[in-house]
Amino acid sequence: MSKEKSEGKELKKALLSKKENAFLKMKSEDIKKCDKFCEGYKAFLDAAKTEREAVEYTIKLIEDNGFVEYKPGMKLKAGDKIYRNNRGKAVMMAVIGKEDIKKGVRLCAAHIDSPRLDLKQCPLYEDTEMALFKTHYYGGIKKYQWAVSPLALHGVIVKADGSKVKVTIGEDEDDPVFCVNDLLPHLAGDQMKRNLAQGIKGEELNIVIGSRPFKEDGLSDAVKLNIMQILNEKYGIVEDDFLSAELEAVPAFKAKDIGFDRSMIGAYGHDDRVCAYTALMAAVKCSNPKHTAVTVLTDKEETGSDGNTGLQSAYLKYFIADLAAEFGAEGREVLSNSQCMSADVNAAFDPTFPDVMDKRNCAFINYGVVVTKFTGARGKSGTSDASAEFVGKIRSLLDENKVIWQTGELGKVDMGGGGTVAAYIANLNVDTIDVGVPVLSMHAPFETVSKIDVYQTYKAFEAFIK
Ligand code: MN
Ligand code: MN
Repeated sequence: MSKEKSEGKELKKALLSKKENAFLKMKSEDIKKCDKFCEGYKAFLDAAKTEREAVEYTIKLIEDNGFVEYKPGMKLKAGDKIYRNNRGKAVMMAVIGKEDIKKGVRLCAAHIDSPRLDLKQCPLYEDTEMALFKTHYYGGIKKYQWAVSPLALHGVIVKADGSKVKVTIGEDEDDPVFCVNDLLPHLAGDQMKRNLAQGIKGEELNIVIGSRPFKEDGLSDAVKLNIMQILNEKYGIVEDDFLSAELEAVPAFKAKDIGFDRSMIGAYGHDDRVCAYTALMAAVKCSNPKHTAVTVLTDKEETGSDGNTGLQSAYLKYFIADLAAEFGAEGREVLSNSQCMSADVNAAFDPTFPDVMDKRNCAFINYGVVVTKFTGARGKSGTSDASAEFVGKIRSLLDENKVIWQTGELGKVDMGGGGTVAAYIANLNVDTIDVGVPVLSMHAPFETVSKIDVYQTYKAFEAFIK
């Protein structure tokens, strides 16, 4: 009887898969490395809350690490490190590999835009002696989450003479912050009957920016004028300059550890700066890779990847074609032999909301980097669906490099769904698969990830491009 029992245990070990919390499998020195790595990640989150700031941060970091701006015809050779800045909102970098570029590149693509409130082009107005900004939200948000929480303003204003003013206000300890107001419960009887999606409506996401009037009798719009005077003194702008501005309201708080055990990080913009940072650090550490390692940090994923800084545009294809040309190859040949990790977050199981997940197929925090074969919605619509062969290659690669990973589908069938840049890269005839960090409260102003998963994701990219 006892012999049979142990045979069963042996057989179980040999035949059935075992899922386990990564913490249990990691050595304490690796946990230390992981915690240290995440300190760098938190600094990145605080310094780069918009795509422009992420590009700036990236270029400074990679230039300090030997990357130079790519100029066509610069005679590239193995080991060279180059980058191209796309309009200050997306950046591509490459470490030239030892193999012939015709054999393809290893591509990691993450996005550096996150959901937020964008100012409209005529944002400034006064109503009943309060000055406010009108906004149009960017990306998929639950609008009620963005009210009654401190906001900072980031972005640029291009003045009539073409000069550009950079704006970052609300981040320093003594900076003022801004906010969207909500109704008091005492008077919210009607509002409380709205559904959650309508709790705060799009045109109610108005940001309060001031309440003191310009001191002069009989003046209309005196609060607005007073604010405009302050803005003119601080930034040298007039109201019409908002027409050519990109100003983004983002949560004003900094990244923080979550939990008594400090196992998680709460912050704005994990989606997808967590994959951007891990891919970036892997690129920085990459030297003399076998295949040329290309890392793309893109814009506009949250609005569908359109536009010339989004990955549906040709900018990546052109970059690869330019690299190919340096070695007398064709871009299409390089792309057709390339492999891509579409580096984006996935949803983590939340015990408070178990009903939306298929527990047998979803990702869990602390179970490592999540590999997602397909995304999409309603019968996998919109997915690129990595082939079994390619998943097999990635699986072996991760196991060989002792990366702790899990598979994860974004929610139950027909519960909703979502996509990433994977499909747009796969459309270039590149083998592509989604790889990233599981996130709780995705697209909320304060999202949560596990430190272990962040580190395992870094290790996955490192293994992929080495
Ligand atoms: Mn994302
Ligand atoms: Mn997203």
